[in-house]
Order: sequence, then structure tokens, then C-alpha cells
Amino acid sequence: MEQTQDRFCILAHSGLCIESSGRFKPCCNYSTWLDSRDAYNTEPSELSRHPEFKLIRRQLSQGLAHKGCQRCWDDEANGLTSLRQSSNEKYREQYESLEPQIRIGDLGFGNTCNAACTTCESSSSQMWSELDQHLQSHPGNKYQRDPHKPIKRKLNWSISSLGRLMHLYHGQNEVLASPDFLPFLEQLERVSSLGEKTILISTNGSIWPPQKVLDLLKRFKSCHIQISIDALGAENDYIRYPLKWSTVETVTRRWIDFTQAKNMKISMRTTVSIYNILSLGDLRDWWNQCSGHQRMSLGFCWFPHYLSASVFAGTLSEQLKRVSNEFPEVAKLMHNPTDDQALAELFWSFTNTVDEFRGLSFRETFPTLFGLLSKSQKGALCTI
Ligand code: SF4
Repeated sequence: MEQTQDRFCILAHSGLCIESSGRFKPCCNYSTWLDSRDAYNTEPSELSRHPEFKLIRRQLSQGLAHKGCQRCWDDEANGLTSLRQSSNEKYREQYESLEPQIRIGDLGFGNTCNAACTTCESSSSQMWSELDQHLQSHPGNKYQRDPHKPIKRKLNWSISSLGRLMHLYHGQNEVLASPDFLPFLEQLERVSSLGEKTILISTNGSIWPPQKVLDLLKRFKSCHIQISIDALGAENDYIRYPLKWSTVETVTRRWIDFTQAKNMKISMRTTVSIYNILSLGDLRDWWNQCSGHQRMSLGFCWFPHYLSASVFAGTLSEQLKRVSNEFPEVAKLMHNPTDDQALAELFWSFTNTVDEFRGLSFRETFPTLFGLLSKSQKGALCTI
């Protein structure tokens, strides 16, 4: 294991990320779930004492590149700001000198969602359950799907543990679609002061919540609404199936107005996959125009890995050069091109299966991209 001067991570010290099934890990970047025990019904102090959690903290504080944190090491090696670095910048000074304790929570309330985005899966959206089961039934589970049924969860922690949660992230699930989100906020307000806490909600831009939720959000010390949008118009409707662009645009504009108050912030987060790699510029221009140049950040599609743009780094080399000039993060991603024929074939067969299931057409929705990709593909192609 490579040893360096500083590998400390505040999320291994104070963070907790909970999957809809109740499994947990220090952060969303960490490679595996640590345990199958139910984090919704286990006190965070006990989770934090889990031997694996202790091992991560020990190795990082010794300057060792713990293997579960590989995504952070890769990002840092590629010149990107890792989750470790951005979290340390925000929280390290506040908590490093204190005992390890869960203060930064990334959690949802099950997998209730109103969308089945193509780059998502059923652990985050029950709208994926049926299709995930279908995909899993292919020989050898070649698409690596892990179907989950609809799940509803509530956090059964003591009042003191809830009160200690200082930074809430709702980034893995669409909490605005969950009936348990409002009761959670109300409970949090009863047991602690929202004015000392921060909250970040990642939302697909199609849900305008009830007034009670909006009123509670205004009481936080700071509230960050992160609108998750991957493309405009018909491309949005394909990637963010079955959402409709007209709704997303209308609700996003309402969020922009709502977040004008001084404790509020808005940004847009885009998951870059092969589907939207060529239309990032159009999306950025739209966002700049309607938000007045608020932040747009890019995340990359690590799973399913066969939907990553890097699979076609060779085929699209000229186009990716142009995109990389506009979006330097994309250039850094392309330092590790996959360009693998087996992954390309998985992309085509996955897309065909999804299109067939949903009555969509990749060929018609992305005609330019289809034309470019199909040039280098050996063998028969079909995308409905
Ligand atoms: S180093 Fe990265 S992967 Fe590891 S716990 Fe910190 S943020 Fe998570």
C-alpha cells in the first residue's frame, strides 16, 4: 500500500452513508458496503465502532491509501478534487480534533422515486425493480444488476444521535418523493435546532414539495438544492425516463426563485455518460441562462461502467477532444480510456434491452451519436 503524508478523511471520521436496504459505509464513494446490519435501526455510535470503520480511519491517519477509497485516489491522481479533499475543506477544522462520531449523514428513506434514470438502479429507485429483474435474468448476470423491491425506511435512532447529525446529505435517493421525508424533518426540528445544521438535497427537478417542507428548509443554517439534470428536451426524457422535460424545466425555475434567500444555494449536477457526452455544452448554456451562471458540476457514470463515455474514447476521440476543451474535467476522465470492445457490446445490448422494455429508441433520440458510434461497431446493431 502506498504511503504518503496526508490521507486523512473527515468522512471516515464523522461520515455515514446508508443504502436503502440499511447497509452502510463512510461515504458514497467508498467501494463496498461494510456490513449487512441495519443502519436505520442501529445507533450511529455502534456503526462508527465497526472494525472496518476503525481500520479505514487507522490506515488513512497513517497515510496509507486504503483500498476501499480507490475512487478518491484515482480522482486525485487525475487532478480532480476528490470527495475526501472537498469534505476535508468543509469540515476538517470543525471535527478532526473531536472523537470520531457520526455528524455528516448521507441517507434516504428507502428507494421511493418517480424516475428510473438510465444510469440508476433499483437500490435507489423502485421504478427500476422490474427492469433490474429482467436484466439480471440474462446469462451470467452480464449487466451486473442487483434487483431491489420497493423499500420504505425510517431512521430509528435515539434523540441524542439525531441531534448530533449536523450535515444532512440526501444525495442517493429522491427524498422529495418519499412520504417519510417531512416527518423526518419535523422530528429533527423537535429534537434539535435546525438553525445549526446544513442540508443538501439532490433532486431530479420534477417535484415541487409541500409548503411545510419548504418552510422547514428555510430554517436550516444553510440549504443547498442540487438539481440533477443530464440533458435537455427529448434527451432528458430518454435518460431520465419517464420524466418530462417541460415539468423539469418549470420546477427547476421555481427552485431557482426559491433559493434566492441568503441561506440558500442552488447548483446543477450532471452525471456524464455516453448518452449525454456530446450535449454537455447545450445543457451548460441553458443552465447559465436560467440560473444566472450558478455552479454546474459533473459526476461520472462509474456504474454501470459500460455506460461510461470512456468506453468509446477511441471511436469518439475527435469529439471528446472538443468536449474536453470546454469541460476540463472530461479531459481528466479520458486519461483512463477503457475503449474495450466487450464493454461496447454490453453498452449496445443493454441499450437495446432497455429500449425494448420502455418503448424508447436510442437511435431516434440521439441520431448523431448513434451514427458516430455505429461506424466502428463490428457486427449487427439495433437500437429499435
Ligand atoms: S477517502 Fe474518499 S472513499 Fe475514503 S472515506 Fe474518504 S471520501 Fe470516502
